[in-house]
Amino acid sequence: MDVMKSQATIATHCIEAALAAILEHEDELAHLDSVAGDGDHGAGMARGFRAAVERARTASGSGTAGAVISNAGTEFSRAAGGASGALVGMYVMMIGSNLSGDNMSSETVHHALRQGLASVASLGKAQLGDKTMLDTLIPFTRAFGEAAAAGTPLAQAWQSALPAARMGMESTKDMIASRGRSAVLKERSLGTQDPGATSIYYVLEAVGRVLAEECKP
Ligand code: ADP
Ligand code: MG
Repeated sequence: MDVMKSQATIATHCIEAALAAILEHEDELAHLDSVAGDGDHGAGMARGFRAAVERARTASGSGTAGAVISNAGTEFSRAAGGASGALVGMYVMMIGSNLSGDNMSSETVHHALRQGLASVASLGKAQLGDKTMLDTLIPFTRAFGEAAAAGTPLAQAWQSALPAARMGMESTKDMIASRGRSAVLKERSLGTQDPGATSIYYVLEAVGRVLAEECKP
C-alpha cells in the first residue's frame, strides 16, 4: 500500500474523477441520448456521481476502498434514476462489495470488475452488440483480465485495457439498439454512439488517470 495515501482515499479520488469527467461531457451525453432516447443521460449520470462523491467522502475517513466504492454505488442508484441509474449504481456497488478490504491489486480488482459486469448483465439482460454500456464494459474487462493474468500491476493493467474499451464504445455507433428506451426507435439509433457506452468509457478513462497518478506498484 502507498505510504502517503490510503486506498480508501484513492477510491474516493476515483469517484471524484468520474464526476468531473461526466460534468465535462454532460452536454455531449445529453445530445447522444436525445437522438433515440429521452436526453436525460448526462443529467442522470451527473446527479448520480454528485451523490456518490458526497457519500464516498463521508465513508473514506473510516472505511476501506471497498466500503467507499460500494457506498458510492448505492448512493448513485438512489440519486441517478433512469435505466443507467440502476445499472451503473449496481455496477459500482458490486465492484466495491467484491473488493476484499483495502487490497487493490490487479487480481482483486479483476475479480471485482467481473462481479460488477455480471450483475449489470443479469439485471439488464443485454448482450454484447445490443448497443449498451456492456459494449464498453465487456471488452474492457476482458483486456484487463488478460493484463492481470500476466502479472501487470493495477494502474498499468487499467491503462492497457482502455483501448479495447474505446473500440467497444465506438463500435456502438454502427449498432441498432435492442435494449432500453432507444430500442423503441431502433433504426433511429443507427449512426449515433450509445450514451451509456460513452459515459462509462469516460468514467473508466478518468479512473485510469487517478490510478496512474496515485497507485505505486
Ligand atoms: P433511460 O434510458 O432510462 O433514460 P439513461 O438515458 O440514463 O436511462 O441511460 C441510457 C443508457 O442505459 C443506454 O445508452 C444504455 O447504455 C444503458 N442501458 C439501457 N438499458 C440497458 C440494459 N438493459 N442493459 C445494459 N445497459 C442498458
Ligand atoms: Mg435517457
